[in-house]
Amino acid sequence: MGYLELHGLRKSFGGQPALDGLDLDLAEGELVSLLGPSGCGKTTALRIVAGFETADTGTVRVGGKDVTGVPANKRDMGMVFQAYSLFPNMTAAQNIAFGLKLRKAPSPATRVAELLDLVGLGHLGKRYPHQLSGGQQQRIALARALAIQPRVLLLDEPLSALDAKVRVALRDEIRRIQTELGMTTLFVTHDQEEALAVSDRVGVMSQGRLEQLATPAVVYREPASAFVAQFVGVTNAVFGTAEPGAVRLGGYRLATEAAEGIAAGVAVKVIVRPEDIGIAQHSGQDNGALVGSVLTQSFLGPVTRLSVRLDGGDQVVRVDQPSSRASAFPAGTAVALDLAAARLLVVEA
Ligand code: ATP
Repeated sequence: MGYLELHGLRKSFGGQPALDGLDLDLAEGELVSLLGPSGCGKTTALRIVAGFETADTGTVRVGGKDVTGVPANKRDMGMVFQAYSLFPNMTAAQNIAFGLKLRKAPSPATRVAELLDLVGLGHLGKRYPHQLSGGQQQRIALARALAIQPRVLLLDEPLSALDAKVRVALRDEIRRIQTELGMTTLFVTHDQEEALAVSDRVGVMSQGRLEQLATPAVVYREPASAFVAQFVGVTNAVFGTAEPGAVRLGGYRLATEAAEGIAAGVAVKVIVRPEDIGIAQHSGQDNGALVGSVLTQSFLGPVTRLSVRLDGGDQVVRVDQPSSRASAFPAGTAVALDLAAARLLVVEA
């Protein structure tokens, strides 16, 4: 049994389903991200958990207790939104103290000081929101959400308005604080790198449902569907035809069990990550290899991504090589690609 449990959540707006039977359990102290494209229902799910939105059907339980009908302000949940959610006419310290005062908590000043330290802004309590950077404002928003010692922390794209460097620093900070406090956290994001970096588990959503719920490594290495593979990380889709025990890609026969269950002759796409493809210079002889020529190189730091146009068509496959080896494949080089050792997903095209 989870600590935060979402069961059978359905919600439609004007007849259009936003959530289509969402089930999700978070263990106590766990950080789970809901990741998915715009409109897949992540925010709706979060708002239902918070109590800002009512589900058509389904339940939300916290610590074994059904809170589905409990108003938002009685749910003991802390929430951080995208940005600019601080009260502009209150200082950082007053923002953090707000919830404490409502609850008539004892010695709010001490608690506020602790929270300012926790988010690394002990010296900025007297500033107003407009005197703080975006990253600092979000730290204060986090401190405000944590002030009431919520049972669950809900984060709705809290980093998306920040620039890249601040975003990475703050996401690591959120993870540190969340782990330190053992705070059960649901984190909505459309940024896959962010979700993979901070989560215990990632729930990949599509059209109001979970496509996969697993650790970041499993979501990345063993995507449950073509949708997950293509949404998380970079993938290639190479088009071909199913054969018994294999896939035919032009003149190349790729023996694979991944096409099992697909009838011979059916058009398929092979989904494969750039780092899983082998590459070698090609002599030019047609020996049943998957051959093409390098179009461009993109330097990405530790790896260089090669775009290879396959011979006999206009398919382009991206292949990652350690940057130290990429000079062997300048634009125009004839190459043979090797998918034999790659993790593949084969789906009907
Ligand atoms: P984004 O990343 O763009 O915020 P999301 O995954 O969070 O997307 P939701 O905001 O949950 O998606 O929206 C899911 C669907 O429900 C969308 O099609 C959206 O237009 C619709 N929707 C959400 N809230 C409302 C509302 N209050 N009234 C009508 N339609 C809504």
